Amino acid sequence: AVPLVVAVSTRLTAQNGLLIRDRAAFERARNLNAVLFDKTGTLTEGRFGVAGIVSLVDMAEDEVLAWAAGLESQSQHPIAQGVVRGAEERGVTAKPVESFRSLTGQGAEATIEGRSVRVVSPGYLKAHGLSADHADIDRLAAEGNTVVFVLIDDEPVGAIALADVVRQESFEAVSRLKEMGIQCMMVTGDAAPVAKSVAEKLGLDDYFAEVLPHQKVEKVREVRARGLNVAMIGDGVNDAPALVESDLGIAIGAGTDVAIESADIVLVRSDPRDVFAILALSRATYGKMI
Ligand code: ADP
Ligand code: MG
Repeated sequence: AVPLVVAVSTRLTAQNGLLIRDRAAFERARNLNAVLFDKTGTLTEGRFGVAGIVSLVDMAEDEVLAWAAGLESQSQHPIAQGVVRGAEERGVTAKPVESFRSLTGQGAEATIEGRSVRVVSPGYLKAHGLSADHADIDRLAAEGNTVVFVLIDDEPVGAIALADVVRQESFEAVSRLKEMGIQCMMVTGDAAPVAKSVAEKLGLDDYFAEVLPHQKVEKVREVRARGLNVAMIGDGVNDAPALVESDLGIAIGAGTDVAIESADIVLVRSDPRDVFAILALSRATYGKMI
């Protein structure tokens, strides 16, 4: 027979939108002492707005945006949605795209008006030996914005700064997890200054920035190598291997199917406080092992 306390907790979890796909993993959750959160869309809203545009050549800011919005109209990334919305708000018409290819974890490229257009991360720029220096870019980055660069035929023509906000619920999630003695960490493909800003706001114990999608799983291994039992929280296709590698994989909210299939637990609401709820409930149900 199922012990009463387990039956009760099963009902409690279901009622609260905590879908347990692997009960053994839920039982092991009582022994976790670290949580590794994905940043965009998990700790933050994942809803970007254009905070600034910098032109690096003789090109109006709106034209920089028109090239970028054309390309980004073909991408599903939260940054892409922010660029497209930014263009709409400014009344800028996105240029029609001839072909498109995603540069996973680094940006995307397209052919527009017969020219090669890319919108990419600072890490991509550096890796390709390109540089684009401007005091306004430094300022926008230092303010915690996500900065992407617009390249036309290998020339950086401008930069777009995008602002995302930390979810209000993340503050409580992190403070309650820390009270439980759980180390809170973050992994992101975004640049170091953005990661630092989010980590400082939330009081995270550690963070990993500029992590390419295939490297997220290595960060899970790195945390485990510190002798920690770690839960990974993510929503994207890119997070799936890390969800599998972690001691407890948690897919959040409106995550992708791949993330959901790779997870031990699915949080139906996109609320990071539910991570605390799961761990607390596991401890209450099975007792904390010493
Ligand atoms: P996260 O870890 O925040 O989910 P991703 O791995 O999806 O980040 O992306 C990492 C970085 O790659 C972004 O911060 C951005 O610089 C760049 N990037 C990815 N997709 C796009 C895109 N469609 N347009 C512009 N930049 C992108
Ligand atoms: Mg992501």
